Amino acid sequence: MVVTVLAAAVSAWRCPFVSRADEVSDLKKSIEQKQQEIKDAQNQKKHLQSGLTDVKTIISELEQSKRDLAAYVTQLDANLSEIQDKIAGFKEMISQKEAEIVQTQAELDAAVAKEESQYENMKVRIKSMYERGDDFYFEAILNAKSFADMINRVDYVEKVSASDRRMLEEFRTTREYVEVCKAQLESEQELLEEAKKDVEAEETSLESLIAQKKTEIDAYEADISNREQLVREYEAELAAQDAEIKEMEKLAKTLQAQLEQANGQKKTYDGGMFAWPAPSYTRISDDYGMREEHPILKTAQMHNGVDMAAPGGSPILAAYNGTVVAAAYSSSMGNYIMIDHGDNLYTIYMHASKLYVSQGAEVVKGQKIAAVGTTGRSTGNHLHFGVRLNGSYVNPWNYLK
Ligand SMILES: [Zn+2]
Repeated sequence: MVVTVLAAAVSAWRCPFVSRADEVSDLKKSIEQKQQEIKDAQNQKKHLQSGLTDVKTIISELEQSKRDLAAYVTQLDANLSEIQDKIAGFKEMISQKEAEIVQTQAELDAAVAKEESQYENMKVRIKSMYERGDDFYFEAILNAKSFADMINRVDYVEKVSASDRRMLEEFRTTREYVEVCKAQLESEQELLEEAKKDVEAEETSLESLIAQKKTEIDAYEADISNREQLVREYEAELAAQDAEIKEMEKLAKTLQAQLEQANGQKKTYDGGMFAWPAPSYTRISDDYGMREEHPILKTAQMHNGVDMAAPGGSPILAAYNGTVVAAAYSSSMGNYIMIDHGDNLYTIYMHASKLYVSQGAEVVKGQKIAAVGTTGRSTGNHLHFGVRLNGSYVNPWNYLK
């Protein structure tokens, strides 16, 4: 008789998913795992705080290369790209943490529901024992200061059956699991907040470094005592740029000839209009053509492309189908891309913060190939867009609407 009653009570307690012994050990494993995850999150948070960019140190390190503008720009650009990578990493972490928080919240909700149902079952069970006159339960209930206290009292009564002990153990483990879920949720949220704060801090560092670069380039160009040297440097820079580009064109021609021989296909430009290469642009900050006399250098200069001011990080698109013949860095062009469209027509994209394609890639009109930036000889976020035909620069407006 007693056995039947107990068996009925026990079956009412049984979790529908797993047998009881497994459930407790599974929960204990989850608790351990979550405690480890909480520790990891706390370490990660400390690591985040210590890894923030120290702009002051960067700027003082840059001091040493100030006299050589090309070296200064190259070093500063490396710092810029490091900060941008950090920002990208933080943003990835933010979306990852947000997903984890959703998951932990769901685990917590499920655990709380389970705890409640176990609690209800426990009350039923104790009530039935009480009604049957089992005085140890009666004692336990009468003398308990709280529910937790009662559970403990029941646990220590020798007469409590093994199955009742397991029920208690299960309930207690669930409660512990609920607490750990709450702690984990809290630590994930703290990490998320830290990552959000760090993105802001890094973005501030990025801005101040970009401002520093502008100041430095402006000061360099305003230095009258350097005028002749500046003119020579400027011309040498442009000549070096031209030589680099001509080299690319030569290479592209050789590759094309090889391809033509291999499969008999000749790359040709069909005369179509270009896609606008910087869709987020806000204005044309400098147009193609002869510039007015440079206020400092006192020389009339040819601007060989169209400058489109656009927010840093906004997309740069391939103007037309073609093959990437260069995706590289130089201290004057910054991160740049050159695309071969066939029939000796090329487009060039300069000063990018990030390149998304590499040399040899086939791209289609409108494809995202890079992000706007201010690398190289540039004093603000913009795309310098150039078009070359038969070995010299031509007006990009001929191809843009
Ligand atoms: Zn330009």
